[in-house]
Amino acid sequence: MSSNSFHPPVRTLMGPGPSDVNPRVLEALSRPTIGHLDPAFVGMMDEVKVLLQYAFQTRNELTMPVSAPGSAGMETCFVNLVQPGDKVIVCRNGVFGGRMKENVERAGATAIMVEDPWGRAVDPQKLEDALKAHPDASLVAFVHAETSTGALSDAETLVKLAHEHGCLTIVDAVTSLGGVPVKVDEWEIDAIYSGSQKCLSCVPGLSPVSFGEAALERIRNRTHPVQSWFMDLNLVMGYWGSGAKRAYHHTAPVNALYALHEALVILQEEGMEKAWARHMYHHGALRAGVEAMGLELIVPEGERLPQLNAVSIPEGVEDAAVRGALLSEYNLEIGAGLGELAGKIWRIGLMGFACNRTNVLYCLGALDAVLTAMGAKIDSGRAVAAARAWYGANG
Ligand SMILES: *Cc1c(COP(=O)(O)O)cnc(C)c1O
Repeated sequence: MSSNSFHPPVRTLMGPGPSDVNPRVLEALSRPTIGHLDPAFVGMMDEVKVLLQYAFQTRNELTMPVSAPGSAGMETCFVNLVQPGDKVIVCRNGVFGGRMKENVERAGATAIMVEDPWGRAVDPQKLEDALKAHPDASLVAFVHAETSTGALSDAETLVKLAHEHGCLTIVDAVTSLGGVPVKVDEWEIDAIYSGSQKCLSCVPGLSPVSFGEAALERIRNRTHPVQSWFMDLNLVMGYWGSGAKRAYHHTAPVNALYALHEALVILQEEGMEKAWARHMYHHGALRAGVEAMGLELIVPEGERLPQLNAVSIPEGVEDAAVRGALLSEYNLEIGAGLGELAGKIWRIGLMGFACNRTNVLYCLGALDAVLTAMGAKIDSGRAVAAARAWYGANG
């Protein structure tokens, strides 16, 4: 069998990630590959570190992209900071908290779970109760922006509580970075990881991470070697570390790093505050449209992510058929519900480059048309007008 070149369809990506990639980033990806120890490349790596420090709002020296997707950034944090026999408090209010639990247990430690309903933020009171009940815990982990439900937790408060009880913190900022404020130094986060393909609007496959001094000290003082050779930061530092001799550790994904560099330059050009405001702004219009249709956002106001909108599926509507029609007729991707929310919600992403007025109006118009054609019980024909009115009223 012979195959031809693969040409993907051109989609509008408004799911939980990957999000639409700026053409500037795709162009950067196609620049000539050079050696990963080439002085020109090493110079670019140094810029990536500085740009990531800006994105994370940190001066942490160890701020760099892991050469693998967000899940590998998660694993990098856990395998380096957790030792066998440790007790780790994991807050779970969606899918990704469950994945943290897996990481803790596979590292030979015990996970103490703090459970909150899916669609709600992590309750600081429950974390405090768990910290009091488990004074021997050494680490607290939580998801800042739960992409599976659209809930935003109060990272600053949760980190403060952890520190009051002598715990370090691991924060999942895969979906939050670039979409809502993430302030690593101000909030004193010890270890944090993100992903390239959500609000940074880069191609998938890289995971920016950052580690503060207390986390590094714990890593240096480990009594058990890190069980992952690839993710052992003691080794990775020889390649990415400051003043490192750039010794060969693994072959960096050279072109993917050009892409991340470009995505971060774009973010710097816009400015973090403006990027956060843009996500909030278009979320306002999307919300107006969704509610005018008679659908609901399942996360209570005040705990909602602007970049990931969990919308209730109307009674009697077949989830997959709607998403299928949006994809085939409109080249539009929105996300399905995960886990206990499967079949109950759609997840409409407004991430990074995809977060703009054209997409908001396009998505509302398409959803309205598809649902109306299926005979769904919605207020047909109102969504786009409501969003346009919202834009009109909010400049
Ligand atoms: C997407 C996501 C991940 C996993 O990232 P991958 O790049 O898919 O490995 C982890 N946590 C959260 C909150 C996410 O949204």
